Amino acid sequence: MKQFQYVRPTSQQAVLDVIAKPGTRIIAGGTNLVDLMKKGVTSPDRLVDINQLPLRSINTTANGLHIGALALNSAVSENQLVLNKQPLLSMALKAGASPQLRNMATVGGNMMQRTRCPYFYDTAMPCNKRAPGTGCGAMGGFNRMHAIFGTSPQCIAVHPSDMCVGLAALDASVVIVGKTGQRKILFTDFHRLPGEHPEKDNNLAPGELIIGVEIPDNNFAKNSYYLKVRDRQSYAFALVSVAAALDIQNGVIKQARLAMGGVAHKPWRLFDAEKSLIGKKPTEENFAQAAALAMQGAKGREYNSFKLKLGPATITEALKHAGGLV
Ligand code: SF4
Repeated sequence: MKQFQYVRPTSQQAVLDVIAKPGTRIIAGGTNLVDLMKKGVTSPDRLVDINQLPLRSINTTANGLHIGALALNSAVSENQLVLNKQPLLSMALKAGASPQLRNMATVGGNMMQRTRCPYFYDTAMPCNKRAPGTGCGAMGGFNRMHAIFGTSPQCIAVHPSDMCVGLAALDASVVIVGKTGQRKILFTDFHRLPGEHPEKDNNLAPGELIIGVEIPDNNFAKNSYYLKVRDRQSYAFALVSVAAALDIQNGVIKQARLAMGGVAHKPWRLFDAEKSLIGKKPTEENFAQAAALAMQGAKGREYNSFKLKLGPATITEALKHAGGLV
């Protein structure tokens, strides 16, 4: 591994000063970054450990919930405010990784984790995300875990997070600071599709720092569910996952939120399917129709076409759980 400088600033301003320097990477839990460094996928000159910053709190605001960027995945998933107000987020977090990893991984780091495409981690293979312009090993390779929505000729990788799928469904925003001050970006706009620049995972600008996440209040707590389909029951990435949230009043769906994981380069929100459910009764038939609508435009490849059937089945099942049918 290449030698690097390690610094541990104690103030936000000091962190911003250091991350402005080229070749600098932020480290918090390190559950993905250390692997990337050990495998030679990334080789920063400098690591900025931000664990000294006061960004671990989880508290209510006038309109919702604020979660600090350094809150641990395990702490968020067990937090009483989260369990009461946004149980979907807790379910998504508990579906991710392993208890040991959740005890180290932070909310900000979870957002910033890289794809688990095996060609990205194998420096002997072509990969436009790791080395732009070298090609895509997965395109004609073993692409069983890869995307069916929003791909480009450059990259067909998926985003690996479960937490991010839950946050995308819950209309969360990412709170960011940079040299010019603070800004918020909708969670659904934070991660990018690969397009011509698969090396860019998200819209965080150079020199910016994630300080938290905000989730607006909603009426989804009673009727939400996170369903993850994977090769084994724990410590495995999603083949397909679905975050489903319904606001049901007097037996009719007033609002719906749906997002998928394991199918795109970013958490994949199903806006048309959500709209199709409004005003309908929470029945299996209506859920299956919404699921069919959600899959329009999906494209399978040699080894991942099974997701074209698994996708709508998982959406329907997640909605049945959220709607109280099972
Ligand atoms: Fe690299 Fe993306 Fe192709 Fe995987 S799918 S090899 S990450 S370019």
